[in-house]
Amino acid sequence: MVLKLYNTFTKTKEEFVPVEPGKVKFYVCGPTVYDYIHIGNARAFIVFDVLRRFLKYLNYDVTYVMNLTDIDDRIIERSLKEGIPATEITEKYTRAFFEDIDALGIQRADVHPKATEHVKQIVALIQKLLDKSWAYQVNGDVYYDVSSFKNYGKLSGKKISDLVAGSRVAVDEKKRNPLDFALWKNQKPGEPAWESPWGLGRPGWHIECSAMSMTYLGESLDIHAGGIDLVFPHHENEIAQSESVTGKKFVKYWLHNGFLEIDGEKMAKSLGNYRTVKQVVKDFPGVVVRLFFLQKHYRNPIDFTLEGMRAAESAVARLKTFYENLDHALLDAKADQQDLEKQVLSKSGIATRDVLENFFQTIIESLFDDLNTPVALSHLFDFVRESNKLLSKEPVSEEEKRILLWVREKIRELNSIFGIIEEKNPSIATALVNEVMKILISVRNDLRSKKQWELADKIRDELNKVGIALEDKGSGSEWRMR
Ligand SMILES: [Zn+2]
Repeated sequence: MVLKLYNTFTKTKEEFVPVEPGKVKFYVCGPTVYDYIHIGNARAFIVFDVLRRFLKYLNYDVTYVMNLTDIDDRIIERSLKEGIPATEITEKYTRAFFEDIDALGIQRADVHPKATEHVKQIVALIQKLLDKSWAYQVNGDVYYDVSSFKNYGKLSGKKISDLVAGSRVAVDEKKRNPLDFALWKNQKPGEPAWESPWGLGRPGWHIECSAMSMTYLGESLDIHAGGIDLVFPHHENEIAQSESVTGKKFVKYWLHNGFLEIDGEKMAKSLGNYRTVKQVVKDFPGVVVRLFFLQKHYRNPIDFTLEGMRAAESAVARLKTFYENLDHALLDAKADQQDLEKQVLSKSGIATRDVLENFFQTIIESLFDDLNTPVALSHLFDFVRESNKLLSKEPVSEEEKRILLWVREKIRELNSIFGIIEEKNPSIATALVNEVMKILISVRNDLRSKKQWELADKIRDELNKVGIALEDKGSGSEWRMR
């Protein structure tokens, strides 16, 4: 099986072959820390988190970098408006960003470089562009000369002439061409600024990603990812400025996730349908948000609806119950994974395991196909349904337990990719619940033997309310999660 990924640059699904065998240099455009991130931002961070986890599952040595844009027009605007230093704003929203991604179960990047801590590298890169006349200086500003790069527009499929004709960019007399973009901006009164050969100023947005990705990943990256809205001009500009300097291919695979709408409409503060991650995770745990997004292919548009979130919530609940029942059924299982490998299964045992193995394979195969998570998840639910057939047997035989042990291994592997089952140190928690239940059942048996039915029933009813079913059998009482 080969991993295929859709490359925006070639507009085809391509076999994934990293520049250096076994290693993946992966860069994702991070947030501008001037406000809370919204649910559309979260989609990009979740889908690329899953791709990163999958690459690790495939044993690639992945270096994952996500920048933090902590100098930008919007940050300055906000700082001037609120009369507080820009750093106060960026520190606040950087903290909030990490809280949000933690709540969504997004693993932190290996490096989260900040633009303000890489001004030296940015200035050096701009200087190289000026030295080779790819850029020009006007009164303390530096612009990239788009006409100097013959492949400009290759990623987005746009032509410079069409772009200029249809350009809604306000004419800036300092620029030679309306598409030229600022690499360095001269300081205006009250703005934060850094020293440079062109005077005090600050970097433009595009150059920051080129400088920081090259600092941590080298001149050629394997994957550069972000929302589809970043294709033009951000990623187009990154290619132009990076390849001008290095003469090498900047990125092998460009990956972009689709748009997000809210109830079929564009999300906008002005429409009153703007949802921050903070608001959403108040109502739904991060695992639900993840499942919701993963049920749609990352390149397709997605409609964020309450109905959809509720459906994801009940799907997550089904998985959770299944996982708990699995843990419960395996509490006394003596066999470990190694025993299992050696175990000779009966004919029917082999048949059962083959069915499950097939479902597992189709889940992984779907991920090899451009990370097709919706198909993978539908197979995951088939896998769960088949496994549930074993779990619901009374009693579960030793052989079935051995198969279920294998199922649990596989579920854990899959969850290391999807992150949709919350595992709160399951072994300790489940073992503890088991012990507490033994105590409760023994107390209740005492009550029953003393004919104190009312109290015995009360224990059963109260447990029922929290989702634990007690069944009285000839041999004693048994419990299970409903
Ligand atoms: Zn970027």
